[in-house]
Amino acid sequence: MKQRKQRLILCLALFLVGAVGIGIYFNARTVVPMSYNRFMELAEQKDVSKVILSTEDNYMNVKLKDEKITYKVPNPKTDNFTEFLLKNDIDIQYGSVSGANGVLRVIFILLIGGIVIFIFKKNRKEILIEDAASLSNCTLSDIAGNIEAKAMVQDIIQFIQYPEKYEKTGAKMPRGILFYGPPGTGKTLMAKAIAGEAGVPFYAMSGSDFVQTYVGVGAGRVRDLFKKAKKHDKAVIFIDEIDAIGKKRGQTPSSSNDERDQTLNALLTEMSGFHEREGIIVIAATNRLDTLDEALTRPGRFDRQIEIGLPDIHARERILKLHSRTKSVSNEVSLHELAKSTVYFSGAMLENLLNEAAIMAANDDDDEIRQMHIDKAFTTIIAGPEKSDRSYITEKDRKITAFHEAGHALITKLLLPDNYISKVTIIPSVSGAGGFSISIPKDTLYYTKSQLESNIKVLFAGRIAEELVFGEENVTTGASNDITKASDLLVNYVGKYGMDQKMGLFHISDYESAHDAELLSRCRETSNLLYDETKELMVKNYKILEKLASLLIQKENLNDDDIESIVRVEI
Ligand code: ADP
Ligand code: ZN
Repeated sequence: MKQRKQRLILCLALFLVGAVGIGIYFNARTVVPMSYNRFMELAEQKDVSKVILSTEDNYMNVKLKDEKITYKVPNPKTDNFTEFLLKNDIDIQYGSVSGANGVLRVIFILLIGGIVIFIFKKNRKEILIEDAASLSNCTLSDIAGNIEAKAMVQDIIQFIQYPEKYEKTGAKMPRGILFYGPPGTGKTLMAKAIAGEAGVPFYAMSGSDFVQTYVGVGAGRVRDLFKKAKKHDKAVIFIDEIDAIGKKRGQTPSSSNDERDQTLNALLTEMSGFHEREGIIVIAATNRLDTLDEALTRPGRFDRQIEIGLPDIHARERILKLHSRTKSVSNEVSLHELAKSTVYFSGAMLENLLNEAAIMAANDDDDEIRQMHIDKAFTTIIAGPEKSDRSYITEKDRKITAFHEAGHALITKLLLPDNYISKVTIIPSVSGAGGFSISIPKDTLYYTKSQLESNIKVLFAGRIAEELVFGEENVTTGASNDITKASDLLVNYVGKYGMDQKMGLFHISDYESAHDAELLSRCRETSNLLYDETKELMVKNYKILEKLASLLIQKENLNDDDIESIVRVEI
């Protein structure tokens, strides 16, 4: 709207300039030079009707009787000239020689000047947006959830806006703020919102933009970025993926670190270069706080660290609501239910889910997003799009996958009945999984020891099913992912959560080398124990396993109701 108005004003101004220009042109054409002698002749013949005398230049304008043309004649500026004119019945007028012409010219100049300023100002804004990535019009209300983080950035916004207030009490605000948390949780969004709320330009770059093959390029870019930002009294500088330049030294021994060190040093120098009470703030983001070089987290650098974590169920519902505002979602879709079944989804994934669903609805020529679109999108987000060509999968492969997945589902239902199995499928995904199941734990703050054990057992269940059905010699590599996850849990179980009795309450990771062997042996022992228990449980419920697997082969996808209907009847 504002843009259209601006364009209208510009058009009008251009039109006026044209009109006035044409006026001046014709007017100028109607001013014809005439010699003084000729004027005297005409005056004496009483052919002159009027003379306009100018105070500021050496010409006068002359009008003849019965003629519209204005003549421009040198002004003799003699004492008795006025008398001479009066004697010859010539009207005398004083003013600007150019007369109307002069006024037009002034208007013309004013208009041109106005337009130039207008265009220049507009361009300046555009240039600003270009090097700033955006003049953020994002506010905190664009962020759903993240309540703690939002509260923690309130005073930073205040500081940018009213640095005097903090100067009075002698408060030094942090120069650098570090947002850390999983990808897609809104770190960039939060930085933009700070700029937006404070009404200052937002300069964004990614750490990976700084890291170049040529030494010195990255450091130069850092200096450039700060130079641009410092042109404004106040600004927010955002550096995404700070770990690209600020990783702990010695973590990538193979590559030369010269370039990264130079870039990092340039950044630290720039940051210590500005005045404490200037309204410029640097915000960096990383997915991994623990890999950052201590040089970055030292006091006076990025010393305020704010976690931006994955949204909990309430935040997920709010994020879904926020992003569905611009979409038409059918009444049959419950965002509350969707929030429940999207544990571990980041804000970006939730947004993506709704968008995928909207695309699928449009593909189906539907006007609104329906539950089935949500379901399809859900699978796509979790596992990548379904592989459409399934012809290469042999019957045997399908059977193995079906039993493997049925094993996970069975043990989940038996040991973690509160979990909601939103999907079990034997349709491979493009990302390489032969099949998968999505089991959604209840949102809880803690895991109990037995829940942790059950989770490990569920992970083992795929492999155990393969073993029971096809024999020990025929187990597949399909369990490798499960084994990785289970091992992580086991290490924590023994070495972090103090749940292994022999190990006792002891945190291992800081004393790794001294306890490596002991940790491993405790993990193995626990693993074998849990494995045996799971196997026993599965043998007992073998009939259910077979039913689940055959239904899977038949339907390819099972949901919680399908599984419940089999398991509940049998138990
Ligand atoms: P990060 O920088 O943490 O990787 P982004 O800020 O780039 O994440 O988030 C990507 C997108 O995901 C955002 O532009 C926004 O649309 C959406 N998003 C993420 N978290 C939230 C949230 N808490 N509220 C609303 N939208 C969110
Ligand atoms: Zn598995």
